[in-house]
Formats: sequence, C-alpha cells, structure tokens
Amino acid sequence: MKSFNPDLFRQQFPALKQTGCYLDSAATALKPLAVIKATEQYYAHNGATVHRSAHSAAQQATELFENARQLVAELLNADSHRQIVWTKGTTEAINLVAQSYARPRLQADDEIIVAESEHHSNLIPWLIVAQQTGARVVKLPINKFFMPDLNQLPALLTKKTRILAIGHMSNVTGGCPDLQLAIKLAHNNGTVVVVDGAQGAVHSPPDVQQLDIDFYAFSAHKLYGPTGIGALYGKAALLAEMTPWQGGGKMLTQASFSGFQPQSVPECFEAGTPNIAGVIGLGAALSWLKTQDMVEAERYACALAQAAYDQLSSIRGFISYRAPGSSLLAFNIDGYHHSDIAALLSEQGVAIRSGQHCTQPLLDAMGVSGTLRASFAPYNQLADVDRLYESLTYALSLLE
Ligand code: PMP
Repeated sequence: MKSFNPDLFRQQFPALKQTGCYLDSAATALKPLAVIKATEQYYAHNGATVHRSAHSAAQQATELFENARQLVAELLNADSHRQIVWTKGTTEAINLVAQSYARPRLQADDEIIVAESEHHSNLIPWLIVAQQTGARVVKLPINKFFMPDLNQLPALLTKKTRILAIGHMSNVTGGCPDLQLAIKLAHNNGTVVVVDGAQGAVHSPPDVQQLDIDFYAFSAHKLYGPTGIGALYGKAALLAEMTPWQGGGKMLTQASFSGFQPQSVPECFEAGTPNIAGVIGLGAALSWLKTQDMVEAERYACALAQAAYDQLSSIRGFISYRAPGSSLLAFNIDGYHHSDIAALLSEQGVAIRSGQHCTQPLLDAMGVSGTLRASFAPYNQLADVDRLYESLTYALSLLE
C-alpha cells in the first residue's frame, strides 16, 4: 500500500540532521535509510563481485545486482531488463550513445539537433561526436518560457537530421517539454531521440514504450540512490546495432590475439568490475520508492516551491525563472550577484545552488550570468521556506 506522510518521509533521511535547510536536491538528493542500509549490508556482510564466481556470496550479490536492473525496467516500463545498461550516470549514458550508436553512423554534414536548454551532459557529447565525424550540431532555440521551442522543430528537421537530443526536465526552470510531440515529429522524420532524464526521472518517471523513446539516460543519485551509478535505456533493436565502446573483462564471450566475440546486450557495454554497491543501493532506492506515493510527494514538493515563490515575490527585485508548478525555483535578485547571496545563505545554514547549473547556452539565451536555485524535495517542509525567506532578506540587508 503506497502512502506519503511528510514527517515519516523526512525521518528516513538522517543527513538532514547535519545539512539543516537542504534546498539543493536538484543537484543531488539525500539518501534514505533503505539505501544507506543496503550499501552498508553489501560491504559489511557480502563484498563479493558479480557474474564471476560461483560461491554463495557472489551469487547473492549477482541476484541483487540483476534484481535492480529489473526494478529500473519496471520504473521506466521497459519491455525487458535486458534493455537497461549500467553506466556511471546520465553523462556516461549519453556519451555511450554518442560513441557507440552515433559515431559509426554519422557522416559529414549529418545533423544532430540539441535543445538550447540542455545540460552540458546533453550537449558536449554531441559536439565531440560532431568533431569526430564532421556532423553538425544544430540548435533548437528556447521560447519565451525558456523551453525548447517545438514550433521551430519541424523546420529544423531535415533529411540529414539523425538525432534529436532533448531533456525530460530542465534542471534550471523545472519545465518539461512536450516529449510526445517532439518524439512524434522526430520519428516522422526518421530521427532517433535521446532523452536526458537526469532531472525528470524522479519527478515523473516516463513510460518509455508509450512515449516511444529511443534512448533514455538517468542518474541514480537524483532518485535517492548512490552517486556514480545510472543507466541507459535503449530500444532493443538500437542497442543490438551498437558496437561496444569500452573493452575489458566480462564484455566478451571469447578472446584471442586475433579478436574477440562481444557478449550480448547489455553486458557488452559493461566492461570491467561494476559499481556493485551503487547498483544494489539504486535497487534499494527503487524498492523503497514503491512504498511511497510519489505522485502525492511530488505535489507536496511543488507546493513548497510555490510557497517559496509567493514569499520571495514580495522582495524588491525578485526575478523568477521557475516553470509554473515545478519543485525548482531558480531566481535572481536584481542588483545583487547570485554567488554573494548564496555564500551568505550558506553562512546561515541554507544550502542552495548558484551559478550556471552546467547550462551555459541556456543562461546566455536568458541573458543572465547565473541564477540562484532552491530545489525542493518531499523531505523539505514549510519551515525551510520560511528559513529561505528570512535568510535571504537578512543577506540582502548585509549587501545593501
Ligand atoms: N542532465 C541534467 C538535466 C542534470 O541535471 C544533470 C545533473 N546535474 C545531468 C544531466 C548530469 O548528470 P550526472 O552528473 O549524474 O551524470
């Protein structure tokens, strides 16, 4: 039975006792006890590697490891757990697609459309593969709401467009483009769509089959799981066409000095000893999330961001970049530098992000050098909103 109780939810996060007013969950979410215990349990009572040895500890670790793959498949409604490839996170997952799917296929003058609002993780891998192949990266500009302007997409899609790279949710505004429309337009043009789910997966996990997503990348650490682990979902036919990008142990079935035979998908993309504790921790996070009403939890976090927006709106010079309804609140106070404010908030125990949020082209288009960003999670409470407001007004009084 799923439920959401803000107090019980909050009690699951011991780090809150130290972090105080933590409003930086869009950078990384804190970890619940279920995840802490699962990783500790693995290191304290097992510690064996996976898919290699026959002893019982190794078998037990392998079972937990593969069970987590199944849980990711369920989260995304993938047809099969064999379509889930372990990576270090979103960044590595997108680089894997760029190097293993795109690089062998791209030809000079082919085009890759990338939305202007993308995180550097969904831009730089495409710039690199463009340099390697002579393909061109084409910008899908943002509209006045700082969202990818899908009205411009049909004109940008040409017979040379091979890939559309677009984010599920902006890590600055919290806005979500109409993925269904973007994918439909791209597919009508024979273009493959790569979705950066780093920010979106925790707020509204996608149904990859219903949306017809070709590739979806996400990181465990924004989903209450450990850092250094994430996954790539790919359509089976696309993954099957890809060549391994890193060579090493366990990605092959046979090796000699004249060559090697790759393993099947997904193992052929998982060379070397994996992040076993990370995968087990992600599995624990997903099992725990199944007991929580995450729709209600998301509504609660968005209401906190709305309350913060309402309070901060009374401050002179307040400029919001927040997409309506989002749990993220990116803002500036006219006349003050975002990093000065963030430093003063930190001195008062309020943790928020300031800067470019790894989205320099987006901020250039918005005409700002950086912003502050308070991001709310279901473990926050109204007291955090009050504390943000009070600390901010105090910081501004010092800077006046
Ligand atoms: N895309 C977006 C939208 C993000 O917010 C982030 C993390 N800040 C990433 C990609 C990269 O994720 P990671 O660093 O976990 O690979």
